[in-house]
Amino acid sequence: MKTCLSVLTLSLLCCAGAHAQRTPPPMSEMAREPFQVFDNLYFLGTGEVASYVITTSDGLILIDTLYGGPYTPYLLDNMREMGLDIADVKYVLILQGHWDHYMGARTLQDEHTDALFGAAEEDWKMIEADQGDRAPRRDFVIEEGDTLTLGDTTLHFEITPGHTPGTTSIRLPVFDNGQRHEAYFHGGSALRSDDPAVIAEFLADLERIKQIPDIEVQIINHYDIHASNADNLFERAERLANRQPGDPHPWVAPDDFQNWLDEVIADTQERLVAAQ
Ligand SMILES: [Zn+2]
Repeated sequence: MKTCLSVLTLSLLCCAGAHAQRTPPPMSEMAREPFQVFDNLYFLGTGEVASYVITTSDGLILIDTLYGGPYTPYLLDNMREMGLDIADVKYVLILQGHWDHYMGARTLQDEHTDALFGAAEEDWKMIEADQGDRAPRRDFVIEEGDTLTLGDTTLHFEITPGHTPGTTSIRLPVFDNGQRHEAYFHGGSALRSDDPAVIAEFLADLERIKQIPDIEVQIINHYDIHASNADNLFERAERLANRQPGDPHPWVAPDDFQNWLDEVIADTQERLVAAQ
């Protein structure tokens, strides 16, 4: 999550009115092969930050848009390699207002897709403050408890501030050879605030997420978000690539999700005590 820390520093240095310039990390270090995670979920990201496509019976949903610049053709190439057509994307969701998640959005809008772009109000504001007239067009605002249905697929949104003011998380179904599993995708699970009220809300959200029944799968937007004794995204991908018939899906790991939540909750409790 080094990227996000440096983003905060850059944002503070950025003067009002001008849009912040960003230099993406080198492609030679960040390029990764895309892969299919589930029947309806594809990873198209980099060695650090993720982007995903969810397939539905009525088109595609793209989640996060990487760093922009050379990473926009990279994202489109990865889609093509997976047999996914940008023309089929109906919605683009931006889960947090840090540039590594949204910077590709404007070029996608200007040159590649008529899809509708959504983010939470607070993070739209963050993006617009950061990018000025280069900000992506906001088509819709995601609010707590909203759902988005496309074809046979419904996503449930929760606003889980703490990493950014409008960090958006998603509950969604994923399918492994037709078998449905419930997944949780936290849009920003590294706390970036010392405000006790924000920390308390972040903690309450985590404790509420822990009570959601039947979550078996964690979807992550940075490769290293996982319980300390669990594999990172690329280690899981290796296991998925080498999976034998009858083996469990490496992402279907409810204990890993609960362990991760316990660790983040414990860390957040300490942060709250320290902040008060
Ligand atoms: Zn971030």
